[in-house]
Amino acid sequence: MFAKTHLHRYRNLLKYLPVLPAIGLLVVLCYRFWPTVSPLGPPVIISRAEWGAEPPDPQLQNPMSREVFNTVVVHHSAMAPYEGPREIQYAHMHERGFLDIGYHFVLDGRGRIYEGRNLAVHGAHVREHNAGTLGIVLMGNYEELTPSAEQVDRLKWLVRELMQHHPLTHLAGHRDLLPGKTLCPGTHLEPLLPALAAELGLRFGAGGYLGPEPAPTAPTTRVSNPAAAPAPGATPH
Ligand SMILES: [Zn+2]
Repeated sequence: MFAKTHLHRYRNLLKYLPVLPAIGLLVVLCYRFWPTVSPLGPPVIISRAEWGAEPPDPQLQNPMSREVFNTVVVHHSAMAPYEGPREIQYAHMHERGFLDIGYHFVLDGRGRIYEGRNLAVHGAHVREHNAGTLGIVLMGNYEELTPSAEQVDRLKWLVRELMQHHPLTHLAGHRDLLPGKTLCPGTHLEPLLPALAAELGLRFGAGGYLGPEPAPTAPTTRVSNPAAAPAPGATPH
């Protein structure tokens, strides 16, 4: 009788076996997409020291004269949503030859904002359009993912904060400045930007760009590294 009861229990457990792969899949999906579905915390800007930024290349130590930023350019990282400022900075400095992370701010799926490149120097985020443009990147690939309303709200909060310190007039997606040359900031993020600009009282698009980037007085990429040369065709980021 005793053994029979145990056998019965094991049989009961065995009937749950078919759902184990589904549970496993759920765990993997939660891990993969958690940054975009978890609730946002309060607005916070995480400093470079706090996220463990690498110092900029010494060639960036003499920033160009302070310029006026009039356009916010929104990007996606085109990387996994859990790959953050450290991974982006590494890719920019060690794979693409930039002198520092190219963006001025990085925003993750939980609404945390990471300080990026010093605002006293050009970013390196829109080829030949870095003068006057302030770069914000959302972690993740928004060709595949859709940003949450909360995440877009946090982006709005950040731009509103920046409007207190910079005479911003326009908000654009990366692809608006380089039509046909990039997919950034992704099919699911770009269409949200006109409404976002309107809510902020900004004009949408590339109309604020003032013309060719002036010749830099200091290098923005390592002089000896050709990796920063533009790649042909549409790029994902
Ligand atoms: Zn971009």
